[in-house]
Amino acid sequence: MTAPAELMAGVWADLTGQEPTVETLANAAHAAAARLAGVEGISGMTHAWLITGPPGSGRSNAARAFAAALECQNEGCGECNACRTSLSGTHPDVTLVRTEQLSLRVDEIRELVLKSAMSPVGARWQVLVVEDADRLTEQAADALLKSLEEPAARTVWLLCAPTVEDVVPTIRSRCRLLVLRTPSTSAVASLLERRGVERSMALFAARASQGHIGRARALALKEEVRDRRSEVLSIPSQVGTLSGCVHAAAALVERAAEEAKAATTELDTHERTELENALGVGGKGAKPRSLQAALKDLDDQQKVRAKRLQRDALDRALLDLMSYYRDVLAVALNTGAELVNLELRPDIARAAASTPPEAVLAKVDAILACREAIAANVAPLLAVEAMTINLR
Ligand SMILES: [Zn+2]
Repeated sequence: MTAPAELMAGVWADLTGQEPTVETLANAAHAAAARLAGVEGISGMTHAWLITGPPGSGRSNAARAFAAALECQNEGCGECNACRTSLSGTHPDVTLVRTEQLSLRVDEIRELVLKSAMSPVGARWQVLVVEDADRLTEQAADALLKSLEEPAARTVWLLCAPTVEDVVPTIRSRCRLLVLRTPSTSAVASLLERRGVERSMALFAARASQGHIGRARALALKEEVRDRRSEVLSIPSQVGTLSGCVHAAAALVERAAEEAKAATTELDTHERTELENALGVGGKGAKPRSLQAALKDLDDQQKVRAKRLQRDALDRALLDLMSYYRDVLAVALNTGAELVNLELRPDIARAAASTPPEAVLAKVDAILACREAIAANVAPLLAVEAMTINLR
């Protein structure tokens, strides 16, 4: 067993606030190392894990850290070549699969399954990480099943998904489940500080991100991300009039589209060039029919992705907006809860004094309804306008 003090060191250092999970994984890595060393009486090696947790809680970090601990001679020192290459995804026996697309295709999974049947190149484990197990198509899940049921002796599968319900039952029943929790504000802040972020900024970003580590890092490091967030938080002051509501809604949807575009443009071009190179045709001129079809296919996938990213950006904005009204409620009802938007305290106190709690609650409901409508594919502008009018 590992003592708590040394528990969060080495490859585990960045798994802020996830001590119970780290303990389980560190023990599993220890058992795996004992098995490789031929120690007698090691029971139940787990060959398939499902790591779940809310967005930003560090699912993929946990999977990589565990992969490193399995490949490392010292169970995850964090310093050696095996640790470093496992964490960065370049270790020959660690395969990371993730997708920017809506689903993981069956041919990608078949390739992984083939690999899973092979012995590792090195002397330790063949580790296969599927970062978006929630995006397995039914066919892809079927292709995976047999390998999970009858794993090769030195193969370990690590699947990641937001919740256990996001994974088809046949898959999840064959995995050992690990649940990550939302990390606390202080845990996120200390992680940022260790990365060189100044303390007050680290605290602000940790609070504002509400436990989403990637978001906290973006808020701490990028001014434009902070600016966008301030704009969202100015919405409550803009919805006094009907025209203000309409204007605020349009601006919010526009910003989300811009954010998605910034995230995809470079990726889109890169994918297109790769595809053209793979098919041996680049540049201008007539393109063969097969290439045209493949390009059209790629184009469709990219459009779907852009749409998804816009919805994701919008949802993040709505979460920020919701945090404002939650703060107002916390002050109005004097719950003593830590405010997410501490820097807006005077504003929040004024709103709390002038709005009855039931009215604030109705605004929170309006935001929730908007998130649900967008998740259900209602046109974003329509859903957001309905919301801003209800925030009036
Ligand atoms: Zn190491």
